[in-house]
Amino acid sequence: MNFKEKNDLSPLQIDPDRMKAIFDGINAFGRNETTGGFNRTGFSNADWEARRWLAGLMEREGLGVSWDAAGNLFGRLGKADAPCIMAGSHTDTVPEGGAFDGALGVAVALEAALSIRDAGLTLTHPIEVVNTVEEEGRFGGMLGSQAISGQVDPDWFESACDSDGWQLWDAMRARGLDPARIGSAARQPGSVKAFLELHVEQGPVLERAGIAVGIADCVSGVTNLQITLTGSANHSGTTPMAFRADAFAGLAQAAAAIPELIAASGTDQSRMTIGKVELQPNFPHTIPGSAEFSVIIRDTDASVMKALEAGFLSILQDTARRHGLRLAVAETSRLAPVALDAGIAALLAEEAGRQGMALTMPSGAGHDAQTMQALCPSGLIFVASRGGVSHAPEEWTDWNAACAGASVMLATLVRLASATS
Ligand SMILES: [Zn+2]
Repeated sequence: MNFKEKNDLSPLQIDPDRMKAIFDGINAFGRNETTGGFNRTGFSNADWEARRWLAGLMEREGLGVSWDAAGNLFGRLGKADAPCIMAGSHTDTVPEGGAFDGALGVAVALEAALSIRDAGLTLTHPIEVVNTVEEEGRFGGMLGSQAISGQVDPDWFESACDSDGWQLWDAMRARGLDPARIGSAARQPGSVKAFLELHVEQGPVLERAGIAVGIADCVSGVTNLQITLTGSANHSGTTPMAFRADAFAGLAQAAAAIPELIAASGTDQSRMTIGKVELQPNFPHTIPGSAEFSVIIRDTDASVMKALEAGFLSILQDTARRHGLRLAVAETSRLAPVALDAGIAALLAEEAGRQGMALTMPSGAGHDAQTMQALCPSGLIFVASRGGVSHAPEEWTDWNAACAGASVMLATLVRLASATS
């Protein structure tokens, strides 16, 4: 794309109060008054009420409002049929999530569009604000952006259900959507010129660097393994230490080897997590007969992820041999690392740099922007998270940081939408 220079454009500013009103409006739904957490899981009542409220607001503001077959909500500024610049995020949350994850990105995108409208700018490309559906993975995917970018896996889609056994199809039908029409949500290549998302960092890097805004240039891949070590459950008092096949001892030894493995084969972007463990029979007086656990491997480099996986499997084999355990390994899911568009990252960094903030960094968490990159050049703006906390009621981003990020979003949106090609 052929970007206009910043100097060609009239001065534009976001309205922090209007942005806060949009943000608070979304967060009026699904708040647990006791804990302060937000419960707008994808397709839940609170999720849908928030999205309908947002649709009403966008309508009142004069945007062209539409929903697609997946349940994504759009508000368009400009011509209905021309290729657009899309910007937005999600408003669903994890159970007991925070106020900022997703909702801030939607409020920022809408505020940026309204600022552009108020300034009366004539742009080459329409701007489409998107509120993606079911980003947090209640049903195991990133449904909204996968649908827009034509990447819904049919096998997953037809059988997806949440942890309570609710079918995705039933959840969609309950909102008046026809799952059989999911394919119609896919945008044609070329119809979206670029996608921008602002999101809270959800980590401590920006705060520790004392910088409000960062630009993500890539998103880590995720390998999800399910490991089972099987030994023999036996009496904890009568079985001498040398005669045990203790599944937990094996798990503990493998887990303790992770830091060394990362030091040897990983990078500073490597993350390995054993987050869920089930011991059997899980009784204080019985040697654990089996340990079933998840291992999540993340890095921004696919070859590093492979090396870590191979290294960990070799550690597990060694551990199993030493403790007399049987080893079973299953791959639950695998997502490759994604490089976001370098041109857009450079543009975002330039705009952030004008405000004295420029930190380019990888994203350790998954976002709509990485999915959208398959459809169009995509960019991701981060704003600092207090204490790096996310997916919790304590999640917090200073409003000045949010506004600084919104200014970067606005300036970049204008440049993209003013591009002559
Ligand atoms: Zn999010």
